[in-house]
Amino acid sequence: AGARASAGPTGNRLTVLSGPSGVGKSTVVAELRRAHPEVWLSVSVTTRKPRPGETHGVEYFFADDDEFDRLIARGELLEWAEFAGNRYGTPRTPVLEKLAAGVPTLLEIDLQGARQVRATMPEALLVFLAPPSWEELEKRLRGRGTEPEDVIARRLAAGRVEMAAEQEFDMTLVNTSVQGVCHRLIALMADAPEASRPG
Ligand code: 5GP
Repeated sequence: AGARASAGPTGNRLTVLSGPSGVGKSTVVAELRRAHPEVWLSVSVTTRKPRPGETHGVEYFFADDDEFDRLIARGELLEWAEFAGNRYGTPRTPVLEKLAAGVPTLLEIDLQGARQVRATMPEALLVFLAPPSWEELEKRLRGRGTEPEDVIARRLAAGRVEMAAEQEFDMTLVNTSVQGVCHRLIALMADAPEASRPG
């Protein structure tokens, strides 16, 4: 029998978009920002240096290692992970505030972070963004042209591990078209108050 919500408001379910580096998560997020301003996108903290065109407070809050250590120590991160030599984390308070206010809320995070959200917020909807093929993923990672070869190699290695994790997710979206993925993601989020499906 399906677990129906009993008394009290169900509120909004948190949606998590994850998938291998280079699969196009940030392109999808940029399109969502443009086309669906009603969706609130969590802004992560990272110790990575800004890429050209990135703005503090928009794509990320850029922090040094000491600041990141402090955030962890104070319990201010909902989840955090080390990815390809840098740390990334989701500030806890804004996410909880948005969910409490009934605002559709999306995290774009790596697999390790998605696992932590699964453990702490079991009702979250985990969406895996998959590349059309592994070859396509490698091409996209190299084509970005912003990272040196050793960084690309680390990201590819991480990506192979991440691809195997698809089965842990509630849903897979194949990134054949950015607008197609956005459309389906919005449809999934509109469905959010429903109880999570088993499996
Ligand atoms: P990039 O350096 O390319 O912006 O991001 C690298 C990876 O870190 C991506 O897979 C991205 O989804 C992930 N990431 C970004 N923010 C967070 C976060 O707050 N937590 C976790 N766990 N991963 C994140």
